[in-house]
Amino acid sequence: MGAAWDRPAPEATPLARPDAAGLDLPALRRLMESLGEPAWRGGQLFEGLYRQRWTAWERFTVLPKPLRARLAESVDLRGPEIVQSQPSEDGATKHVFQLADGKQIEGVFMPYVVRGSGLRPTPPEPPRPVQAEPAPGFAVRGAGLRPTPPEPPRPGQAEPAPGFAVRGSGLGPTPPEPPRPVQAEPAPGFAVRGAGLRPTPPDINTLDRVTLCLSSQVGCAMGCTFCATGQMGILRNLTAAEIVGQVVAMLNHHGHPADVPVNLVFMGMGEPLHNLDHLMAAFAILTDPKGLAIPPRRITVSTSGLVSGIERLGTYPKRPRLALSLNATTDEHRSRIMPVNRVWNLEALAEALGRFPLQSGERITLEYVLLKGLTDSLEDGRRLAAFARRFPSKVNLIPFNPHAGSGFEPPDEARIGALCRQLVEAGLTVSVRRSRGQDVGGACGQLVRSLRRGLPATEGED
Ligand code: SF4
Repeated sequence: MGAAWDRPAPEATPLARPDAAGLDLPALRRLMESLGEPAWRGGQLFEGLYRQRWTAWERFTVLPKPLRARLAESVDLRGPEIVQSQPSEDGATKHVFQLADGKQIEGVFMPYVVRGSGLRPTPPEPPRPVQAEPAPGFAVRGAGLRPTPPEPPRPGQAEPAPGFAVRGSGLGPTPPEPPRPVQAEPAPGFAVRGAGLRPTPPDINTLDRVTLCLSSQVGCAMGCTFCATGQMGILRNLTAAEIVGQVVAMLNHHGHPADVPVNLVFMGMGEPLHNLDHLMAAFAILTDPKGLAIPPRRITVSTSGLVSGIERLGTYPKRPRLALSLNATTDEHRSRIMPVNRVWNLEALAEALGRFPLQSGERITLEYVLLKGLTDSLEDGRRLAAFARRFPSKVNLIPFNPHAGSGFEPPDEARIGALCRQLVEAGLTVSVRRSRGQDVGGACGQLVRSLRRGLPATEGED
């Protein structure tokens, strides 16, 4: 018997009632024909579902009223339902979706704004103590506050000079009050609620782009030891409709304007290349210019190293970009944390990625989670650079997002910086990515696992 990822994952149970949300154009045409309507009305449904992101039949005013009434009677318009949302202090919001069969998956909404020359996430700024106006007798010099000498008393002066007071028979200086730090107004992104400061969601109208992290399966067959989802095992594939439905639900939940670019990354629950048929069906809907119109280059699938899936993905003329969750530079270490490496080791992976048909300027992203004492040595950095130079690539270093029971820790900042420098000096494009939403259970699967156990996401798991 082979590994779990060798076999197709179980599929969703067919729905008792048809659900139009998430269907592609041919399916929507068939739906209309089944109701005795012309097939072209399927195109009106498609634009309403994905360009307008309507989620109630009464919104489809392009359809005759009697037809809307018939649709409301016989066809659902549900898709995955957001049942819990947890805003993070870094601006991201993690969502838990309930599917039609009661199973749960998760996705993350990550807003970004441009500041200066680069793109940065929109964390609400923490409240800062600000320096009060210098107290009498103090003046700002350079970076600090120093006392200013009081003017000496002048002969014949009746009143003591400022800074002097009469003591006994003479005049002596009065000590100036020390400067006191005062609390500033809440910084943008913070609001006073109750006794404390808590984050408020970033203003949706000032965003430059958003990135949505999506799930592709319920659970996962790959069994990576550092991943909460991997410990759940595989329950089933998501349908194309459930994949598209996560996007529509998150954009609607945040009131996302249609003109702000959307990036999609399949880094939530599941191995996307283990569900490639439904993934590609969803990709066709997501990229359709008459619907959500997300450019293919803005969609990235992250694989754990399923070489059979990488090879299949490369056969599609129009496809998402590819990222590899690498995470170790020796077969011994990688096989220990990612069981798929026992089947396709690093050499097999590098060869498959070298054969992957890239477009002009396209690069494969290497995601490398830094685990203290396991994958963060400078020798790892040297091997990572050698691996990355075998094909057009860029490297994302991701300090491990610790969760209770994982048994792993992130390295300290000095080690992260040293690895980053080492890779840059080797001629690679490198970024350090912080897992967003850490305070609400950032690693894939953590939030759902916590809900299943009835625990807050940041509390301990076994
Ligand atoms: S890291 Fe990704 S591929 Fe590995 S178990 Fe978790 S969800 Fe699956």
